[in-house]
Amino acid sequence: MKISVVGTGYVGLVTGTCFAETGVTVTCVDIDKDKVQDLRQGIIPIYEPGLEPMVKNNVDKNRLFFTTSLQESLKDTDAVFIAVGTPPDEDGSADLQYVLDVAREVGEHMENYMVVVTKSTVPIGTAEKVRKTLKEALDKRGVNIDFDVASNPEFLKEGDAIDDFLKPDRIVIGTDSAKAEDILSRLYKPFVLNGHPVISMDIPSAELTKYAANSMLATKISFMNDIANLCELVGADVNSVRRGIGSDSRIGNKFIYAGTGYGGSCFPKDVKALINTSDKNNHSLDILKAVESVNERQKTTLVNKLMYHFNNDLKGKKIALWGLSFKPHTDDMREAPALSIIEKLRAEGAEITGYDPVAMEESKRRIGDSIQYARDQYEALVDADALLLVTEWPEFRTPNYNVMKKLMKNHLIMDGRNIYELSEMKNQGFIYYSIGRKAVK
Ligand code: NAD
Repeated sequence: MKISVVGTGYVGLVTGTCFAETGVTVTCVDIDKDKVQDLRQGIIPIYEPGLEPMVKNNVDKNRLFFTTSLQESLKDTDAVFIAVGTPPDEDGSADLQYVLDVAREVGEHMENYMVVVTKSTVPIGTAEKVRKTLKEALDKRGVNIDFDVASNPEFLKEGDAIDDFLKPDRIVIGTDSAKAEDILSRLYKPFVLNGHPVISMDIPSAELTKYAANSMLATKISFMNDIANLCELVGADVNSVRRGIGSDSRIGNKFIYAGTGYGGSCFPKDVKALINTSDKNNHSLDILKAVESVNERQKTTLVNKLMYHFNNDLKGKKIALWGLSFKPHTDDMREAPALSIIEKLRAEGAEITGYDPVAMEESKRRIGDSIQYARDQYEALVDADALLLVTEWPEFRTPNYNVMKKLMKNHLIMDGRNIYELSEMKNQGFIYYSIGRKAVK
């Protein structure tokens, strides 16, 4: 089989590479010339564990190609996967201009039947817009070529993207065409041999499934963060509460860790977009509105604790930040809590030195030299008045406390991910604030 994947970001590049891994001929298309140039030379524009060797292997085997020409990729293709960005518009709705640009271009150039699949996260009704836009382009050419549309939302997690794609919990296919369903089922067959289900449904349900999934996960996070806030007021420990509720199989123990709020390229925008869709349908999704406002508050909880500790005066304080990416194992900083924390600290006049194992280049690209960067986690601590732990990278979990104490001016840790034990912090002599647990002083 032969497919095109349009957009070579976190989703498109992983999708294209994993399909190529099963023997499919894949052409990945991007409008970003530099990205395509780099990819052709085996330079991977994102940090995603395991991706680089897999790209190289499939390029070497002549199954994976990169181009800026969508037209070129469409020749004899069975399916086009649209995996371009859908950033939030001003009102929170998903901006569909990139998706519809691709649909139009497909209509302008396609010569044979194909199924046009939206893999980007798109609001209900988008597949219909894709169909209409593509058809208009065909009409403009005065040709009548058969095609189908399908919605095939992607559930991969950055940092685990390859594994998630190769061994998905489920594959959702929304289409009203048996032919399209057959093509997609054949493409996904290698990924479901271990019993992972393909769940077929109508297109609007598939489109809504993706938003409902991300919104549910965001809800779990905000719920637990708000419980953590209550824990602090009543002297409870959120980790004990988490273990207590997570052992109930109806609740489950995943995604109920308190922290500094969710970020990333998906949860914030998808929660916003679902609220917007709901409002437009005269239904107020009050739960999600609360999820969002709890999250906004949570993103600066560490700075508030710091302000409290320093009597509201952070001017000239040297603050070390461990972790800049929105979660471990990725360089993605879109909507990262670190960005809100940095903004608030700078507004208070603090001096910040950041360290992240992989996201420092991305941070420099986003916020330039508004903070200083350390070469390793310990260098960030030199003369620090406090350490803020923002992202729970594994290498921060068992640091050398003696070295830390030698380097830091104040032995003060603000842990936004609850990775240290209270008893250990007490034994080591740190002043320690975390989320939803008693402070150690
Ligand atoms: P991204 O920003 O990393 O990549 C998008 C790519 O599309 C960019 O390389 C851009 O240059 C390219 N592009 C834009 N317009 C184009 C066009 N007309 N032709 C060709 N290329 C074009 O985005 P992403 O994180 O991969 O997300 C893509 C979609 O998948 C979004 O809708 C997102 O919500 C969804 N999604 C993302 C994740 C994730 O973890 N990142 C997971 C599931 C779903």
